[in-house]
Amino acid sequence: MKKRVVIALGGNALGNNLPEQMIAVKNTSKAIADLIVEGYDVVISHGNGPQVGMINEAMDVYGRSNPLHPTFTPLSVCVAMSQAYIGYDLQNALKEELLDRGIEKSITTVITQVRVDEDDPKFLNPTKPIGHFMNEEELKFAKEKGFQVIEDSGRGYRRVVASPLPKEIIEIKTIKNLLNSGEIVITCGGGGIPVIRQGHHLKGVSAVIDKDFACSVLAQEIDADYLIILTAVEKVAINFGKPGEKWLESITTDEAKEYMNQGHFAPGSMLPKVQAAVDFASSGDNRTALITLLEKAKDGINGKTGTVIKK
Ligand code: ADP
Ligand code: MG
Repeated sequence: MKKRVVIALGGNALGNNLPEQMIAVKNTSKAIADLIVEGYDVVISHGNGPQVGMINEAMDVYGRSNPLHPTFTPLSVCVAMSQAYIGYDLQNALKEELLDRGIEKSITTVITQVRVDEDDPKFLNPTKPIGHFMNEEELKFAKEKGFQVIEDSGRGYRRVVASPLPKEIIEIKTIKNLLNSGEIVITCGGGGIPVIRQGHHLKGVSAVIDKDFACSVLAQEIDADYLIILTAVEKVAINFGKPGEKWLESITTDEAKEYMNQGHFAPGSMLPKVQAAVDFASSGDNRTALITLLEKAKDGINGKTGTVIKK
């Protein structure tokens, strides 16, 4: 049986704006196609920090410029928009790359909701900055709307949102059916659209789930063999950027936990990746997590580079 791989794409796979994304997805598709050619069944997911910020700001501007029809677009809807827009670019670029290599495959993007706990303590302490730095007018508007803002290291204010933990992928059955029939699926984009359950109703909430955590849940649910987190560094380091810096090649989940406790990984960037890798690798004996550079996906899965985390 073919091995199943969940690919978690980071910010460098998509760029920061529309023209950048058009170019970035071509390069990203090469890395993904390399894994397909190697014989893996792939499931693709991605972050959305810059995109969800951009969409959110655009909808705010729209709302403010139409005083007779004030529009407030919930963050959950902005995440949904980002999934569709990124999925559209990614599925087309990957389709083209595969056709160029003589491979005929169906690719589909699933608009995916992910349930979070209403009483997740992370709602009380929003930590994820999204979008750009605000001017006076924007800051006033944000405060009027009740948005939380954060002063970001002396550079100005940005909107900050909660990042609760993913608990359940609502569309998981659809995803499994698609995978079992041989489709390439793009899912859980931007960590998934955050929702809470109210009886039969799924209510969107104002948050952005960390894509690395959502990918770990996804990989466990579909019984993947690998979780590959593709980012902007080839390996994970201890003492990153400091004296005694050491790039890690292969570590156990226990060693990774030890390094996490020692504070080697920056919160909001490398820490969620290592945590997500540990969660996945701990969940089964034959489950391997790999963190590496986007362009090195193939070398990484062939054991030539990257940081491997296993139980
Ligand atoms: P992505 O958009 O792929 O999620 P992030 O910027 O959130 O990427 O996280 C990856 C970044 O984490 C790397 O580019 C690197 O600058 C930073 N980083 C922080 N701590 C470490 C570490 N210990 N080892 C390697 N990279 C680290
Ligand atoms: Mg990140």
